[in-house]
Amino acid sequence: MSDRFAQRLERAAAEAAEAGFAAVIVAPFPDLRYLTGYDPPPLERLTLLVLRPGSDPVLIVPALERPLALASPVGPRLEVLGWADGDDPYEAAAAVLPGEGRIAVGDRTWATHLLGLQWRRPKVGFLPASQVIWRLRAVKDDQELATLARAGRAADETFRQTCALPFEGRREEEVAADLRRLLVENGHGRADFWIVASGPNSASPHHAPGRRTIRAGDAVVLDFGGELGGYYSDTTRTVVVGEPPGGFVEVYDLVRESQEAAFRAVRPGVAAQDVDRAAREVIGSAGFGDRFFHRTGHGIGLDVHEPPYLVEGNASVLEPGMTFSIEPGIYLDGRFGVRIEDIVAVTDDGAKRLNRSSRDLKIVR
Ligand code: ZN
Ligand code: ZN
Ligand code: ZN
Repeated sequence: MSDRFAQRLERAAAEAAEAGFAAVIVAPFPDLRYLTGYDPPPLERLTLLVLRPGSDPVLIVPALERPLALASPVGPRLEVLGWADGDDPYEAAAAVLPGEGRIAVGDRTWATHLLGLQWRRPKVGFLPASQVIWRLRAVKDDQELATLARAGRAADETFRQTCALPFEGRREEEVAADLRRLLVENGHGRADFWIVASGPNSASPHHAPGRRTIRAGDAVVLDFGGELGGYYSDTTRTVVVGEPPGGFVEVYDLVRESQEAAFRAVRPGVAAQDVDRAAREVIGSAGFGDRFFHRTGHGIGLDVHEPPYLVEGNASVLEPGMTFSIEPGIYLDGRFGVRIEDIVAVTDDGAKRLNRSSRDLKIVR
C-alpha cells in the first residue's frame, strides 16, 4: 500500500478515536477513493470500509469484486472480506462493527446501506463522518494541488477559446455545447457543468442553459468545470456581447472588487466566515447586499462542493493547502447578473489562484 493511503487511513482512525467514535464506515466515492485509492462505482451491492481505532482496516466487498479490490493500491494490506450474492451483506458488516457507541458514516453512503446497518446495530449512534474526514480531505497535498492547478489551467484555456466563438444569434444551449466540448478537449476527463445564462437569465445563479437566443447587449454568465484526474475545475466569468447594458459596468466592478477583497482576506488562521464577510462588505456597503444571496464559496477537490464552505456561521479555521472557490455575485431580476469565480489555495502566508483567466471585463461578439 502506498504510504500516502496508509497515512490517510491512520489519520482518519486517529481523528475518529479523538472525536470519540468507535468506528468509521465509508462507502464508495469519494471518501473511499481518498482513503484507499480503491474506486469502485457506488452500487446497491454493499462495499464498505470499516476503520476501528486500534484494529486493522477491513474492506467488505461483493465477492465478485474481491479480485478488483485486492488489485487496488490498498488491496494487499487490507483485510478484504467478500460476501456472496444471496448472503446478507449487512450481517457480514455487522460482524466487524461495534455493538454500541458511535459510528461515523461517510456522507455519501446510500441510505439503503445505512438503514441495513442501523437495523442490525440498534444501540449504535450513527453520525456524519464529515466531522472526522473533512479536515483531512480539505487540506490538499502537493500532488492534489498540482492536479487542481492543471484542472484550473484547462478551465482557463476553455474560457479563452469560448470567448473567441460567436455569441450573438446563437442559443444558450449551443454555447453550452461548446463549453462541454472544450472542457474535454483541454484535458478534462469529463465536463461536469456548463451554465450559460444570458440577458435576464443571468440573474438566476444556477440557470440551466436553454433555447434563448443571445442578443447584442446581453450579459452572459459562464460557470463551467469538469473532472481532471479525479479533481475538479470550477470557474465563472461574466462577459458582455458588444455594448454593456445600462448600469452593468458599475455592478461588474463591484463584484470584481468584492472577489478581490475576499481573496485578500484569505490566509492561515482566518475563519471561513471572515472571507465571506470580506466579500459581502464590499457589495453590502454599495447597497446591493440583498442581491448577493448565496455563500461566497465552497471547498473543492474530489467533490465539486465540499467543506470548507465560506459562509456566515462557519468558524472553521483556514489552513495551508485548503482549496475553495471565491464566487460573489449580484443578481438584478429582469436585467442581468454578474458572478466572478476563481479557485484558490491557501498558502503559508496568503492565497494563490489556481485558475488565471483575466477578471477584466471581456467583450465578446
Ligand atoms: Zn453554484
Ligand atoms: Zn461555479
Ligand atoms: Zn463554485
